[in-house]
Amino acid sequence: MSQTTDKKRKIKEIRIKTEWCKGCGICVDICPKQVLAMDYMTPVVVSLGSCIACGLCEINCPDFCLEVILEESDR
Ligand code: SF4
Ligand code: SF4
Repeated sequence: MSQTTDKKRKIKEIRIKTEWCKGCGICVDICPKQVLAMDYMTPVVVSLGSCIACGLCEINCPDFCLEVILEESDR
């Protein structure tokens, strides 16, 4: 089976350091794909398969709680 060679930025995991999180909800509001949702005061990943690895959640979290982990690229 053929495979595309330019499969870049494939999401593996979104790590959330909940102990740093103040529950502002910015990450949930800014995600264009509704990957994250608030569970009371904590963001949770509800739809990792929808994530396009844009990095907006990580960049915009004021408390540096989020880390977008990509699959290892084979390039
Ligand atoms: S990387 Fe982009 S699409 Fe994925 S959870 Fe963060 S904001 Fe949403
Ligand atoms: S943007 Fe950061 S501090 Fe705010 S809810 Fe999301 S993870 Fe927590």
